[in-house]
Amino acid sequence: MSEASEDLVFDPNALRERYRVERDKRLRDDGNEQYAEITGEFAHYLEDPYVDELIDREPVTDEVDVVLVGGGFGGLQAAARLRAAGIKDLRIIEKGGDFGGTWYWNRYPGAQCDIEAYCYLPLLEELDYVPKEKYAYAREILDHSEAIGRHFDLYDSALFQTEVTELLWDQSVQRWIVSTNRGDKIKARFVSMANGPLHRPKLPGIEGVRDFKGHSFHTSRWDYEYTGGGPAGDLDKLGEKRVAIIGTGATAIQCVPFLGTAAKHLYVFQRTPSTVDVRGNSPTDPEWAKTLEAGWQRHRMENFNALISGIPQEKDLVDDGWTDLIGKMIHQFRKTQGNSNMTLEQMIEMANFEKMEEIRARVDDFVEDEAVAEKLKPYYKMFCKRPTFNDQYLPTFNRDNVTLVDTDGQGVERITETGLVVDGVEYEVDCIIYSTGFEVGTSYTRRAGYDVIGRDGKKLSDHWRNGTRTLHGMGSHGFPNVFVMNTSQGAFTANFPHLLDESAVHQAHIIAHALDKGFNQVEVTEGAEDEWVKTILGFAGGPLGGLGGADCTPGYYNNEGKPNPNAMQSAPYGGGSIRFFELMKEWREAGNFEGLEFN
Ligand code: NDP
Repeated sequence: MSEASEDLVFDPNALRERYRVERDKRLRDDGNEQYAEITGEFAHYLEDPYVDELIDREPVTDEVDVVLVGGGFGGLQAAARLRAAGIKDLRIIEKGGDFGGTWYWNRYPGAQCDIEAYCYLPLLEELDYVPKEKYAYAREILDHSEAIGRHFDLYDSALFQTEVTELLWDQSVQRWIVSTNRGDKIKARFVSMANGPLHRPKLPGIEGVRDFKGHSFHTSRWDYEYTGGGPAGDLDKLGEKRVAIIGTGATAIQCVPFLGTAAKHLYVFQRTPSTVDVRGNSPTDPEWAKTLEAGWQRHRMENFNALISGIPQEKDLVDDGWTDLIGKMIHQFRKTQGNSNMTLEQMIEMANFEKMEEIRARVDDFVEDEAVAEKLKPYYKMFCKRPTFNDQYLPTFNRDNVTLVDTDGQGVERITETGLVVDGVEYEVDCIIYSTGFEVGTSYTRRAGYDVIGRDGKKLSDHWRNGTRTLHGMGSHGFPNVFVMNTSQGAFTANFPHLLDESAVHQAHIIAHALDKGFNQVEVTEGAEDEWVKTILGFAGGPLGGLGGADCTPGYYNNEGKPNPNAMQSAPYGGGSIRFFELMKEWREAGNFEGLEFN
């Protein structure tokens, strides 16, 4: 390989070695087990701080055509597509007090979606709505979720503050029996599981986590009663408080600036720095909005998805940090065209180094103290961890009342009754905010919070014990009439609502066909499931086989750096989301419902 280029301003070998050292010091034997499950004595961390009162109602025992588990974007999009396919008889079961899912729970100050709102907010054309800004704040997204609920007349079909506890297939009536924590036993012809990928908060299993006597909460259950203020900031009750935040992922990047402004003192406990790229938010130009023609949102979503999938487009409609890396790759490609010594993989690596150098230089641009700036620089490949975008996070570290406590990759050592210990030093605080994310690598049914008991008493937790087994990521043999909205064995794209919509369209197509033709049961055949598992495994080790490879610093993209024997089988379709969406369309257009058995 020839990396010799007069333009290279970095030493690839030195960077490779630095990345390796940073990864190695973070590798740990306990992998995912390092986190404490939020149950039992920790259960209060899950309480809903956003409801005014608990709904008191009688158990429901009726029958519907479709039960949707989850009233987040997945459930809402599935409901919209089912309604469009003429299916009226729905019931949505949602643990929150309203629709919104992720955006119901995540109301921390500064919560905002870092995927462009014109691509991210679902069903904009259907609702005739153009978001107010390029990057929408959580309140607008929550309002939009509620608007979808009203537009598709879903409120009467919703059971809020209700959690599914079991799905049981009753072959004698060919119906699912959906049980909930409210004593409901609802019969459903079909069930769609839109549980959401990141909804079960996790705590770090730090020694002493039970001992802290001060106040504490998880970012997805923000305690505004304690902090004062609201999602737009003004956390006026923190003026006399010493606050610790643990974690520096995408959530912390957004709320730290607000905490820094409000707290008497803020300690940011960092294990691994995030990449913090330019945000550059801007209000929507009403003149531009007037020019949008029918089909504009789909066109924009597809343009964005193509660019972040590495497929050059004539025009970059979104033109932001997400598409920038790919822009750099194309630039590199042009520079190196004719240089037959550099493979595509090497070129990508060089482009990645270049982007990360830019990210690291950005830290120096904003952070005055050189030692602090050095600690805030991420040394790993772009996309080893989820990229973040923010213009206020880095300057927050110039404030006198903000201290970065870098743990050199080791995490907080211990929590005491009064504070947190790192490198033998105790930092006394009044409040600990856990910005430590959500369960990812645990089993699907654990994250869902219930098991699915299919034909002949077969449990989904058993069927998927050694990795997901489905056709197209959406249905499994032995589990008739149930659909999964998930990335495992399906599509993956950073713009999650895009894949939810494709999945919603696909399942609505199958359900509508079954209902139209009077079939009671539709099930994936054993052969089709086997074939799809083989297809997924066929991509194992390929360049699109997943994010965060083994050479990456640990995180939830790579099962905390601990190889998971099931990971390859549970990976998204390795041919990429664009090909996957085409495959689904071709499958629908073929009209023979290959791989499904109806009766
Ligand atoms: P993450 O899982 O991304 O981050 C958790 C953080 O906690 C990491 O910085 C992790 O460090 C740190 N941590 C864990 N254990 C310890 C410990 N013992 N000591 C110190 N630090 C510790 O959670 P987030 O809530 O930030 O984000 C979750 C996901 O939500 C994102 O990845 C993204 O997909 C989504 N999100 C999306 C947004 C959007 O705009 N679309 C905005 C916010 C979130 P380490 O990195 O070393 O593991």
